[in-house]
Amino acid sequence: MSDSLLYIVSTPIGNLGDMTPRAIEVLRQVDVIAAEDTRHSKRLMNHFGIDTPLVPCHDHNERHQAGMIVQRMKAGETVALISDAGTPLISDPGFYLVRLVRDAGFRVVPIPGACAFVAALSVSGLPTDRFYFEGFLPAKGAGRRKRIEALAVFSSTWGVYESPHRIMELLDDLGAVLGGDRYIALAREITKTFETVMAGTVAEIQVALQSDVNQQRGEFVVLVEGYKEPEHAEISPEIEKMLQRLLQDLPIKKAAAIVADLTGLRKKDLYDLGLGMKNGE
Ligand code: SAM
Repeated sequence: MSDSLLYIVSTPIGNLGDMTPRAIEVLRQVDVIAAEDTRHSKRLMNHFGIDTPLVPCHDHNERHQAGMIVQRMKAGETVALISDAGTPLISDPGFYLVRLVRDAGFRVVPIPGACAFVAALSVSGLPTDRFYFEGFLPAKGAGRRKRIEALAVFSSTWGVYESPHRIMELLDDLGAVLGGDRYIALAREITKTFETVMAGTVAEIQVALQSDVNQQRGEFVVLVEGYKEPEHAEISPEIEKMLQRLLQDLPIKKAAAIVADLTGLRKKDLYDLGLGMKNGE
C-alpha cells in the first residue's frame, strides 16, 4: 500500500465558523482537492486562504474523475474530497470514488464536521436511539408517495432532505399518506441567520407554514416520528364472556386466536387475559 491518502473533508452547511481547524490544515496540505462545484468551493477556499488546486468531481463526471484521482494517488499525490456543503457522500457525490480508492489499496481518512441530517436530528426532540436516513425522496408524484408509504411503517425516526420550493408539497404528501396526526420536526436553514426548528403534527406544521411564507423558504431537513402501534383496544365484557366460554373447551392459545380473528383485537392481549382467567385472577 502506498502512503497516498484520500481525505473526505466535511465543510460548513451555512455558518463558516463550523469549518474545523483540521479541515483547513488538510485542505492546505493536500496536492489536489476534488470538489463538487469548483466555483462554489473557490469562495470557501479564498475565505480560508487555501490555494490548493481544485478539480471537479460531481455526479456527472465522478467515474471518470475517480480513475484520474487513483492515477494521481499512484503517482504519490494526496487528495481531498469536498462537496458544496456538509459531509461528502451524504446525498452528495463520492461513493464511487471512495470505493475505487479503497479497492486500489489506499487509505481513506475522514475529517468529520457538519452534516445537516445529524444536526437536525440532534435538536428535533424525536427519538435518536434508532433512525433512518432516506436522503432525497423522488421529486414528485406517485413515486414519492409510494416511497412515503414504504417508510410509513418504520418504527424508528426517519428523515429526508428537501430542496427549497417543495416543502409544502412534501407536507401534503406526508399528510395524505401518514395522516395529519403524525409528529414531525422541520429544521430549516440550520446554522444560518434564519435557522428555525419546529416540531408538531403534520397538520400543525402545515398551518404554521401556510400562515408565514417566510417559513417555506430555504433548505430543510424533515424528520418523522416512527410508527407507533395504536393503543390497545378495550376488551368489552361481552368479549371476555366469549373468551371464557371458549376456554372451557380449548387451550388458551387456540381460544385467544379465535377471539382475535372474530374481533380484530390483539392475540397477545387476549392470551394474557385468558391466562389470568385460567389462573383464577
Ligand atoms: N452533504 C450534505 C450534508 O452533509 O448534510 C447534504 C447535501 S444535500 C445535496 C443538500 C440538502 O441538505 C438540502 O437540500 C437540505 O435538505 C439539506 N441541507 C443542507 N444544508 C442545510 C441547512 N443549513 N439547513 C437545513 N438543511 C440543509
